[in-house]
Amino acid sequence: MHPERFENRFLSNSQESISAYRSAITAAQDVLIKAFACQEKPYSGADPEKLAAAFAKLDPYPTTGKQLQTIINELSATILNHAVVVSHPTCVAHLHCPPLIPALAAEVLISASNQSMDSWDQSPAATLLEQRLARWLCQWFGYDSAADGVFTSGGTQSNFMGLLLARDYYAQTHLNCSVQRQGLPPQAQCFRILCSTVSHFTIRQAAALLGLGEEAVVAVETDRHNRLCPAAVERKLRELQAEELLPVALVATAGTTDFGSIDPLPELAVLAQKHQLWLHVDAAYGGGLILSDRHRHQLAGIAAADSIAVDFHKLFYQPISCGAFLLRDRTHFHLIERHADYLNPEANEAAGVPDLVTKSVQTTRRFDALKLWVSLQALGQKGFAEIVDTTIELAQETAGLIEADAVLELANYPTINAVVFRYCPPHTQAINLNQINHRIRTSLMQSGEAVIAQTQIAQQVYLKFTLLNPRTTRAQITAILNEVKRLGNCMNSV
Ligand SMILES: *Cc1c(COP(=O)(O)O)cnc(C)c1O
Repeated sequence: MHPERFENRFLSNSQESISAYRSAITAAQDVLIKAFACQEKPYSGADPEKLAAAFAKLDPYPTTGKQLQTIINELSATILNHAVVVSHPTCVAHLHCPPLIPALAAEVLISASNQSMDSWDQSPAATLLEQRLARWLCQWFGYDSAADGVFTSGGTQSNFMGLLLARDYYAQTHLNCSVQRQGLPPQAQCFRILCSTVSHFTIRQAAALLGLGEEAVVAVETDRHNRLCPAAVERKLRELQAEELLPVALVATAGTTDFGSIDPLPELAVLAQKHQLWLHVDAAYGGGLILSDRHRHQLAGIAAADSIAVDFHKLFYQPISCGAFLLRDRTHFHLIERHADYLNPEANEAAGVPDLVTKSVQTTRRFDALKLWVSLQALGQKGFAEIVDTTIELAQETAGLIEADAVLELANYPTINAVVFRYCPPHTQAINLNQINHRIRTSLMQSGEAVIAQTQIAQQVYLKFTLLNPRTTRAQITAILNEVKRLGNCMNSV
């Protein structure tokens, strides 16, 4: 064996390794800048069949390796040129942000240093930095020193953890049952989770994964601003009690995916306390409002939640993936804590060694906290607030433009930066409108001019902008709206 043969494959302290690393990273940067940063449109317009044909020709595992530069050039043609350009100002579809440049630099450090957050001996300083940031997040969301948090892959995992703890806490305190050891008690069939009709689908997904079944999720009606009605929650709770069902958790959404609407957190907190329900706030989207002096008040009351889900790969502008799960009373992490002799033996805990795996449903886990840390340092409070405020302002202006247009219909006045609307000239049949709006979106994608989203309200197809990019101008929005109308008018006249 000649270990030197591998010098240009791994980053180490040899000259060969360092220069291989430098040129690899530079080659990746160069191709990215060419294919992505200089892109005129947010998408090439290629449809799935065309892309599939190109991919069918690729050989995933050549007999001998190729030059990295060759591989990167190939990638440029097949992958980068047909990526959605998230940093393009007319890429305005989903809660899918253009990542901050300081965070991209942090990603280079995260991946190459390859710390693993499950045990302290795999990530000594990284563990402490994540802890520091988790504690800061808890404080910033209004929790006291009893709270704690952990970084997650995003809202899906954070919502899952909230409902996992809610389920296990209820079983422990009301039924003296440890679900982790004994499995679900028979009463679990009667467990119910309340949330609004426009809460995120991952609430139902979590209920299914937790063995409660999707039907355990009781969707409660919203008011005309798409917010959960406390009075309707009360009514539903009485109904459930009459049926001898067991409400265990109430999920409030702070920033629904389509409307950005925020459920009335203070009222729901009172209800949750009165009925001894675990209150989980899904702030995957709206959690970003905490960054803005002007908009933070919309999250008032969030500190009464037992747990909070917040995503950083949305309004905190982090590269995917990055989220956190915050817990008001850190002792509840004990409900899911387990010890592996090889990883985090119980003696470690007694000795005060912080092994973060005890707080997570993931084992090996990335040091994603670093990119948020670097971004917070680089932008500071003023920098982040400016981005959040600018995009909310743009959404409000966009709503104004749509509202003033006879051919367009605004579905909601935006709470954050999502705007839902449709092409809807007077006297057009509903069935045609659905088809036309669907086709408008597909046409825009095929032309590559703009990437916008589609959603449904009461079986009607709507279009959606999620305006995350502070570099998107009013003129660019006007141009997209004009194109929506032009396409709609063409389709409507045939
Ligand atoms: C995005 C989102 C989720 C899911 O989060 P991921 O980060 O995609 O896993 C959950 N809830 C809400 C309200 C969201 O906007």
